[in-house]
Amino acid sequence: MSHEDFPTDNQAVVTCGLPYANGDLHVGHLRTYVGGDVYARSLETLGQQTAFVSGSDMHGTPVAVNAEQEGVSPEEFALGYHEEYEATFPKFNVDFDNYGHTHDETNTELTQALVRELDERGYVYEKEIMVAYDPEDDQYLPDRYVEGTCPYCGEHARGDECDEGCQRHLEPGEIEDPVSTISGNPAEYHERTHKFFEVSEFSDYLTEFLDRLEGTSNAQNQPREWIEQGLQDWCITRNMDWGIDYPSDEAGESGEEAGGDEEDLVLYVWVDAPVEYIASTKQYTERVGAETFDWEQAWNAGEAASEPGPDAGGEIVHVIGRDIIQHHTIFWPAMLRGSDHVEPRAVMASGFVTLGGKGFSTSRNRAVWADEYIDEGFHPDLLRYYLATNGSFQRDVDFSWDKFRERTNNELVGTVGNFLYRSLLFAYRNYDGAPADVDGASDEVESRINGAIDDFTAAVNDYSIRDVGDAVTHLAAFGNEYIQRNEPWQLVDDDPEEARQVIYDCVQLAKAIAVLFEPVAPEKCERIWAQLGESGSVHNTTVADALEAPDGGLAEPTELFEKIPEERVEELNEKLEARVAEATEGEADEETEESEEAEAADEASEPTMTDFEPLADERISFDDFEDLDIRVGRIESAEGIEGADKLVRLEVDVGAETRQIVAGLKQLHDVDDLEGQKVVVLANLEKAELFGVESNGMVLAAGDQADLLTTHGDAEPGTKVQ
Ligand SMILES: [Zn+2]
Repeated sequence: MSHEDFPTDNQAVVTCGLPYANGDLHVGHLRTYVGGDVYARSLETLGQQTAFVSGSDMHGTPVAVNAEQEGVSPEEFALGYHEEYEATFPKFNVDFDNYGHTHDETNTELTQALVRELDERGYVYEKEIMVAYDPEDDQYLPDRYVEGTCPYCGEHARGDECDEGCQRHLEPGEIEDPVSTISGNPAEYHERTHKFFEVSEFSDYLTEFLDRLEGTSNAQNQPREWIEQGLQDWCITRNMDWGIDYPSDEAGESGEEAGGDEEDLVLYVWVDAPVEYIASTKQYTERVGAETFDWEQAWNAGEAASEPGPDAGGEIVHVIGRDIIQHHTIFWPAMLRGSDHVEPRAVMASGFVTLGGKGFSTSRNRAVWADEYIDEGFHPDLLRYYLATNGSFQRDVDFSWDKFRERTNNELVGTVGNFLYRSLLFAYRNYDGAPADVDGASDEVESRINGAIDDFTAAVNDYSIRDVGDAVTHLAAFGNEYIQRNEPWQLVDDDPEEARQVIYDCVQLAKAIAVLFEPVAPEKCERIWAQLGESGSVHNTTVADALEAPDGGLAEPTELFEKIPEERVEELNEKLEARVAEATEGEADEETEESEEAEAADEASEPTMTDFEPLADERISFDDFEDLDIRVGRIESAEGIEGADKLVRLEVDVGAETRQIVAGLKQLHDVDDLEGQKVVVLANLEKAELFGVESNGMVLAAGDQADLLTTHGDAEPGTKVQ
């Protein structure tokens, strides 16, 4: 791996967090997969050799629990979803070079080899631990089989993760007041021997690794806190049947420890899940040959390994949801380090997608399902554009059909589609293609296209897929302005030579748009490419092709995008509301019917409409209001407060002076983005001390999302709000 700008001479591997084979895919899930696909395609457009891989996560207790409830084997249960995912991704033009699953032979072998390696190097030890056990059902209760109270924050939590509270990974035996999720019986703790991976040995390494790590800032910042709090070793085995067996000592070697009281242990699902990234890359190599893509070189594994460490191997980019940052920035890099694999170059952690401001809920059927979107007849590239460019990647974003329609109609139809159609139609009718006798694009247009290529390249190196999309819509907006300003329909008669130049420029711009927009809207861009009469697939082009002379003959242009009528959105909103209402009613009398563990998280985090506090009855006088000294402020600097999950220390310019204010914004805003933001400050609130830091005033924000209040005009800091 290097830390040079993309494109580098190394092979890149872009991975997507494995979908868990436990339920249907909805639009919220797709954000990560579309994001990964856009990123992988963007790297290829820069000329970077890239493999894009993922696979289904088959193991773990949620699959085992749900299979048990449905009366099928875990394998059958998980394979059903695996096949569904495999069929769904291509419908959204999410085009993995290889899509495997964690229960296949490749992953099983590589996982066992990696664990054996860790064991041989002394990073694995045995320890007696308390394991939850249901005495009535005579069953061990690993992970999701048990729920209880988080020992760190006191919130209700799953056996392996504090999903509703502090988001920490929980070790077996940590959860308090354990209860079986299957039977509802209170659980006992029994002592059992388990294998532990010595993550704590890697603290120093991980601290340095995080300094090098690229990607989104949430993936760097959160793990730093976890390391500062001290890393716990990690129990990597479970008492259950479903999973990859803990690798026994190789046959033939001394078996002195064989027999005895060894129980059947499988590896914890989070050991074999990320190894699928390697396994999937290996399967890709097996299909295309090492001369096309060499998995061993990319992962720096096996015989091909040269010097291990940051300078060897490929550029590994993990695209994940923000709920699995810890696994990808602590455990996984430690596993890779401990087994001489290359470390990840970047982790891109996406925010969640909400629906009307609330979390998706599988059990309440409040979701926009992947298949449903397709069945509604919308083109996949519309959703890709919407998901890729609706807010920065690491922020939570809201899905609404209204916004979907607005972005489609304004940006895809109004800006991109409009430019392409009007300019290509003009070229087709008047010149049958790019006008002849023109000596290349004008300086102005060439420099604009170069600017777009620069923006595109910077976006890839900033890990910002939104900026990838914006680079193109800006170029198309320029195209519209260019054709409007030059009025080729007038020039055709007045100045035919100039008219040819203007239309040639437009065809060149259309070609550049096709090349640069392909990562976001691959299918639509193939259509532009065909309309332009270009040969081959636009998928195989690189940024340099954006400035290559257009090939000439045009096919008759058709509109690329269609407007979504308002009635469609009303219809969709009604459908969704009706379904949610129905599902909520049905839920009352079949409480425990659905697989709760999968939904506990989103249900808890979703405020319902009735959660709004009623408006206050009691009125205050104008004088009371006058007592509040509310001012416009500007954030001069912002930094997280050590030991506090959410708090940020701000220096806020409030006109007459600069105030130090502590605000609970860290989880909801990128701290780096706060600087320069205009805010509204309650200046005469009494001083308070939070985590040892004095707070002198209050920054006003709306709701749990801490949506910052600001001004719309240019009121200076210090201006009184009245
Ligand atoms: Zn917690």
